[in-house]
Amino acid sequence: MSDCETATFLSEVTIMPIYLDHAATTPVCPQAAQAALAAMTTGYGNPSARYALGLETANQVKTWRAILAGRLGCLPEELTFVSCGTEGDNWAIQAAADFGKRIGKHIITTAIEHTAVLEPVKALAAQGYEVTYLKPDRSGHISPDHLAAALRPDTVLVSMMLVNNELGTLQPVAQAAQAIKSSGSPALLHCDAVQGFLKVPFTPKGLGVDLLTISGHKIRAPKGIGLQYIRKGLRLKPMLLGGGQEEGLRSGTEPTAQIAALAAACQAWGEDTAAHIQSVKEHALKVLQQVPGLEVISPGDAPHICAISLPGYPSEMLVRDLSDQGIYVSSGSACHKGKPSHVFAALGLPKRTLMGILRVSFGPDSTPAEADALAAALTYITRTRIAMR
Ligand code: PLP
Repeated sequence: MSDCETATFLSEVTIMPIYLDHAATTPVCPQAAQAALAAMTTGYGNPSARYALGLETANQVKTWRAILAGRLGCLPEELTFVSCGTEGDNWAIQAAADFGKRIGKHIITTAIEHTAVLEPVKALAAQGYEVTYLKPDRSGHISPDHLAAALRPDTVLVSMMLVNNELGTLQPVAQAAQAIKSSGSPALLHCDAVQGFLKVPFTPKGLGVDLLTISGHKIRAPKGIGLQYIRKGLRLKPMLLGGGQEEGLRSGTEPTAQIAALAAACQAWGEDTAAHIQSVKEHALKVLQQVPGLEVISPGDAPHICAISLPGYPSEMLVRDLSDQGIYVSSGSACHKGKPSHVFAALGLPKRTLMGILRVSFGPDSTPAEADALAAALTYITRTRIAMR
């Protein structure tokens, strides 16, 4: 090969990136992509249309909803399609506050919720609601006793996530439901289960929640689709007004391609997928602990997320250096856009530890070799970069 041919060959070699940021988003699985393609190109009728093509699509939507309800262990009519986790969280919080407005204006949530929960709660606070933010312990867990103690006769909403998106910690949602029930509180319980769906076993009924939110792009469906569970019998203010789709709860022509893909992604997610992800994470935690100075901030209860720190190394620099080596991890939630994370801040960590935090999150295609590559790349960084004092 001539020099010129070698240069051309090298420039054409594509190095497969090592993607370890599945809590931010996931690659769409082939089954979901194929289902979306079919829904867009052949089964493209408007589900509200009265001719055969429309009726067929309406039937398909019914089937997809039933598949998802089966996976969630709820009734199909308890599910409303929304555009994303953020929409579901916003809707649940605003509608629950509206539902309880004659009873009171007190809300309980946690200091480590996603901004999709914290921001609408903040908006309600600006309208006169009083908010209690439950703080996590050093390991990133909320105490169910603190929740029980915070409940008041005027509490109308408790919003608690199932799995924290930066720490991977499981939160005591079922115990929160128990505490609400045994105190006789009128509060509705909302759960942001965006990071929990298919990763940890649960059903909305088993958790005892009134409202629960899911996002498709965390489980290998495309961006632009989510699910809102609303307990049967609970009639909430609609999210969108218009043509009356989704039982009048969220008007707008159904995004059939995304719905088809969500159902297909759920079906493609195997019974043993979570166990595989867990085993890769366990391997990663073992090899990462050999990186000089590395601290495990949270091993994560959920199979896919862990948080680590290289104290003294700014995480933005670590993310860039790793990216240069073709490895993608997050310096915290992708939604924070460079701001220090409120979640890690809530743990009361030392400043040097806080500055060097990375979130590593695994998916169905992750491998132990990818974890080895991450550990090797971090070791290289500690040898070639000087840590800040
Ligand atoms: N809730 C949690 C826990 C999340 O991790 C995310 C996204 O990262 C969201 C809500 C928002 O979901 P979406 O990106 O679908 O709006």
